[in-house]
Amino acid sequence: MGTIQELVGGLAGRFRILSFSIPMKITKITAWQVDLPLHEGNYKWSGGKSVDVFDSTLVRVETDAGVTGYGEACPLGPVYLPSYAKGVRAGLSELAPALIGEDPTQLGKLNQVMDQAMKGHPYVKAPVDVACWDVLGKVANLPASDLLGGTYGEDFVLYRAISQQSPEEMARNVQGYREEGYRRFQLKVGGDPDVDIERIRQVAAVLQPGDKLVADANTGWLKHEAMRVVRAVRDVDVYIEQPCLRYEDCLSVRRNTDHPFVMDESIDGIPEILRGEQDLAMDVVNIKISKFGGLTKARQARDLCVSLGIAMTLEDTWGGDVVTAAIAHLAHSTPTEFLFTSTDFNSYVTRSIAHGAPQRKNGRLAAPRTPGLGIEPMEEILSGEPALEVG
Ligand code: MG
Repeated sequence: MGTIQELVGGLAGRFRILSFSIPMKITKITAWQVDLPLHEGNYKWSGGKSVDVFDSTLVRVETDAGVTGYGEACPLGPVYLPSYAKGVRAGLSELAPALIGEDPTQLGKLNQVMDQAMKGHPYVKAPVDVACWDVLGKVANLPASDLLGGTYGEDFVLYRAISQQSPEEMARNVQGYREEGYRRFQLKVGGDPDVDIERIRQVAAVLQPGDKLVADANTGWLKHEAMRVVRAVRDVDVYIEQPCLRYEDCLSVRRNTDHPFVMDESIDGIPEILRGEQDLAMDVVNIKISKFGGLTKARQARDLCVSLGIAMTLEDTWGGDVVTAAIAHLAHSTPTEFLFTSTDFNSYVTRSIAHGAPQRKNGRLAAPRTPGLGIEPMEEILSGEPALEVG
């Protein structure tokens, strides 16, 4: 049984679609650390970087209306973007006190409060923002995808990230995932350019018409190495993603190749998208929810890209069921022709952390049609020791 305030708040929340609405307040923010091991044992990408077990953070936002929302943040180790797993929790301990008493359903205002309370650190803010979209959806009794712009089609297309291994192993893995239904593959290259050329060639040889291949160097090549690779695979139908560390170096490669070009690590906000558009620096941009700071800002970037005619990969740095659900709502609410591809991270990891999360079928995914994110974290996690409790 709740207090009178919770009861009144609960009724107010339930009937917000009627003519009155009482502001809702965040009363508590709780976070749990969750280990997510990988089915393949580990994941390797450019420069010898790898992760064996992902360190994820599940975040719960509670309100005075009795409505609860969930978000999750999971950096791809500490050397992919300027983010790290313990940083999510450390950042939340700084940020969360400023959010108690704020209305979780007023997402623009809430993001302003977060930006005023903490400069930068978008990956810390993302799980809070996502949890508040979950609250908003539950209050509105609508799936987040409907609130993010509308739900397009039955489902949407996924890619499979292919961990960096020998060309032969990568071609074998692509063949295996192809048999599971995937039709888009993102090869982790950015290693020795001569081996990368072989990786691209051997994988391209096992693909069928209609499949799409991306060679993602994850900033791993210098300009001269990138130029050698793009020239050596000129006859292959392959997209080149983020070849070099600096934006200017990527742009230089882009201007000297006719392969379709994807920007990822260099694009983490609206000004960067506008600059990329001005320079005609990319055909596809990779928008990750935690790189932009949550669904609110990822949606703003997504809508801008639609206006500019830029296709997108919509995803996150990694995660489990809650991240996968958030990605699904963003991807499913994107006009189909603009969604280049998306990801189902929950199928890469051995541990499920929530009921109701979307599950891949034939290389495709659909956002849940239940209110909010449509997921419910498992009791075994919620009953565990929290890493953080504020409120
Ligand atoms: Mg990438």
